Amino acid sequence: MKIPELTPRMMRDWLLEEDSARLEQLWYMANFVRERKVGQDVFLRGLIEFSNRCARNCTYCGLRAANGDIARYSLSERDMIGCVGVALELGIGTLVMQSGEGVALETEQLLRFFRFVRHEKKMALTLSVGELSDVEFLAFREAGVNRYLLRFETSNKALYNHIHPAKKNCVEGNQKNGNHTDSDRIRMLRKLRELNFEVGSGVMVGIPGQTVDDLVNDLLLFRELDLDMVGIGPYMPHPETPLALEFEDHKSSYVCSNRELLTYKMIALTRIILPDANIPSTTALATLNREHGRVLGLQRGANILMPNITPQEYRSEYSIYPEKAGTSMGPDDSYAAAVSAIAQAGRTVGAGKGDSLRYLARKGNH
Ligand code: SF4
Repeated sequence: MKIPELTPRMMRDWLLEEDSARLEQLWYMANFVRERKVGQDVFLRGLIEFSNRCARNCTYCGLRAANGDIARYSLSERDMIGCVGVALELGIGTLVMQSGEGVALETEQLLRFFRFVRHEKKMALTLSVGELSDVEFLAFREAGVNRYLLRFETSNKALYNHIHPAKKNCVEGNQKNGNHTDSDRIRMLRKLRELNFEVGSGVMVGIPGQTVDDLVNDLLLFRELDLDMVGIGPYMPHPETPLALEFEDHKSSYVCSNRELLTYKMIALTRIILPDANIPSTTALATLNREHGRVLGLQRGANILMPNITPQEYRSEYSIYPEKAGTSMGPDDSYAAAVSAIAQAGRTVGAGKGDSLRYLARKGNH
């Protein structure tokens, strides 16, 4: 099967397509490319939400500093080492360490833990802790962190600025980096590439005010950045955030009202334009469509799942959005749900670290 090179016009047409029979062609192409380029395996990442403290006030996120309705926590080193043991018992070769930004980092403790994971346990390690200085990125890279996720959320600069208040409007603790007061995630993504990380980014679909042309530009930016990993999830309104109010005014717009279907389309189009990238079927998708979201993501281009292995008692406090899928589960159940979704999608569980083939190809190792 010859897959056409996608022009911006073709991307736009697919994003606007409503005929389900025509859309079957898009799902077929994405699945065909996925099977040919990254195979049948779905790789698992053990997600550790190690702190819900955050200095920023992104207008869509329940962890925003201004939200006083959640109990803040940071896992102890002992808790984190416990999570490593859980991951290894489940046969998971990669950890994804995620937290809020700024005040969550006790750098020395984290560096020690990262060295332990990489050098003693020989696991792959993805970090997702938001915007850092170049010096911090370098320190984490030198400690062995080999993958970094920093979603740019939208390529529309005005919309980005609207949902990410500048740091000067955030609480004091986040000023410590000093070398940037405004976000420049694209520059940071380029820096991460320079530092030899496997680089991941991604977007939300269905942000109030977002347009189909914005989504086309997101896809073009994925391609321009030549990303190794791309995470795409539907926007999920959190009632304790300012953006949820705006969503009420926009919810009948094409992008907001079709955000689940548009998320599948974005996953499929991303698979076609970045054939050998790692693409997760995201928890947000599994939350919006509890019955089928995770499986449909896998069937429409994704090849990664991230079972949550955070100790269960902390799960409900990591409420980026409400009623997140898996909140009531422990690590074993999260793992079992991921394996079940893989079986339902007719796929196999990947063994090992599941490095991005895009990254390996760039390095000349594949
Ligand atoms: S999106 Fe990230 S940086 Fe923004 S408020 Fe939420 S946890 Fe903090």
